[in-house]
Amino acid sequence: MEPDIFYPDFSLEGRKALVTGGSRGIGRALALGLAHAGAAVAVTGRKEETLSAVAQEIETIGKTAIIRRIDVTDLESIRSGIQESARLLRGLDILVNNAGYEQVCDSLEVSVETWDAIVNTNLRGAFFCAQAAARIMSGSGGGDIVNVCSLTSSIGFPTAVPYTSSKSGLLGMTRALAAEWGHSGIRVNAIAPGYVHTAMTDIFFQNESWAKGIKARIPLGRFGQVHDLIGATIFLCSDAANYVTGQMITIDGGFLASI
Ligand code: NDP
Repeated sequence: MEPDIFYPDFSLEGRKALVTGGSRGIGRALALGLAHAGAAVAVTGRKEETLSAVAQEIETIGKTAIIRRIDVTDLESIRSGIQESARLLRGLDILVNNAGYEQVCDSLEVSVETWDAIVNTNLRGAFFCAQAAARIMSGSGGGDIVNVCSLTSSIGFPTAVPYTSSKSGLLGMTRALAAEWGHSGIRVNAIAPGYVHTAMTDIFFQNESWAKGIKARIPLGRFGQVHDLIGATIFLCSDAANYVTGQMITIDGGFLASI
């Protein structure tokens, strides 16, 4: 009798992955996590020294890493960087759109430069990375894209309007690309981290009363750590998620569910 149950396979053995903004913080953790699950990883960002350090960490666990400079605000850098990475890795199955930028700003004062710096990194950059990756994936049977969204993809925060707009747009983009590329075998999903102390959020975490107040509202009683985001990302890139597309998994210790 033919089996009617197929058990999920979470391994990424043999996959080729590219992570944007892989030099530090969440991107570094996701690059290491994908490698640990078996993928060969292109670690990308703007600074070679920091990328090399992450690639060395990946090689230390016996996995393959390459580095490539990609500035996601620069279309030519995206296109050549993704093509060259796929050539060196001999394929591209996974893209993690992680590169991000945030700046606190009063909406009555925000300049075009600030708006563009945030939206062009978080939204326009993610779209053109997805486009460059999908052009490769669609010619080789498909692939997986994971966009790093945010709590601001779901709720509004004051003094973060460009960032909130970009991350809400990124969720919309996740759904629309899932709808458009599903027939090409490309799944597009997202993770939404809660509060994680990184270089980007250090400015908030320095404010002890803010941190105390937020922590008190997190049902699991602690802030997120970069490694908390690895499991869901591996899941979304694995065959275990092969019927999941257009979805966002929020990883926030229950914060959003309880407000
Ligand atoms: P970090 O500031 O620690 O890391 C940001 C990363 O993005 C760095 O690797 C940086 O690389 C890269 N980056 C920034 N601008 C560009 C660019 N133009 N081109 C290429 N790479 C770029 O932040 P986090 O790790 O906290 O953030 C990672 C992602 O997670 C972001 O998308 C952020 O919005 C999201 N996020 C973070 C949360 C948190 O609490 N920390 C919560 C929700 C979402 P380099 O400067 O070396 O080029």
